[in-house]
Amino acid sequence: MYAVDAAHPRDSGRAARARTEPMAVYALRDEERYLVDTEGGTYVVDLGSDACTCPDHAIRGSRCKHLRRVDMEVGIGRIPAPGERVAACAVCGDGVFVPARETGAFLCGDHRPAVGSFVRDRETDKLLVVTGVTTDRADERETGDGRRISDYETNTDYGDHEPVIEAVYAGNAPASPGPLDVSGRKRYGFPASRLRRLDPSERPETPVIGIRTDRDD
Ligand SMILES: [Zn+2]
Ligand SMILES: [Zn+2]
Repeated sequence: MYAVDAAHPRDSGRAARARTEPMAVYALRDEERYLVDTEGGTYVVDLGSDACTCPDHAIRGSRCKHLRRVDMEVGIGRIPAPGERVAACAVCGDGVFVPARETGAFLCGDHRPAVGSFVRDRETDKLLVVTGVTTDRADERETGDGRRISDYETNTDYGDHEPVIEAVYAGNAPASPGPLDVSGRKRYGFPASRLRRLDPSERPETPVIGIRTDRDD
């Protein structure tokens, strides 16, 4: 998972201590620095410049146990990597790592549908294909006729703060042979939780083609 360099006995000692000593690591809000709280003191690790404020790093210039610990925790996904921050999934509230500068609404892995996947509209039970997952909130995104997605009556049961998922209607295409070409179809925006992801057993096996990544509204 992460490299443990055992080139020097003192180095392997640091690697072991980085793994086993009690340390609490917190990401600071400036994207590249982390606070490491240990029994011996509190230090700031800067992953951008590979530096730590502890004496081991400052005096000996070594890759100290704090730097190593931060690297490990980033590697296993416990804390955000440099350039990322933690946001809350708009559906379940779970933490999700997102680009630090990106604002808007986000979804965790469990609630984020894959582009190109089939979903069902909970209101109409119609089958759709996801063509885009945006970070636009449903109460900020407007449709072609100037209404916000959250203003539609059919969307009142879903969160105004949820990101808008773009999708096209699949019609009865899965029943016909060959791939489903969605290139000419009109895209519609939905609050994320209105679209239900499908279990493998109810998912059409039809390949989908013609999904562009730009917007057409
Ligand atoms: Zn250190
Ligand atoms: Zn979620």
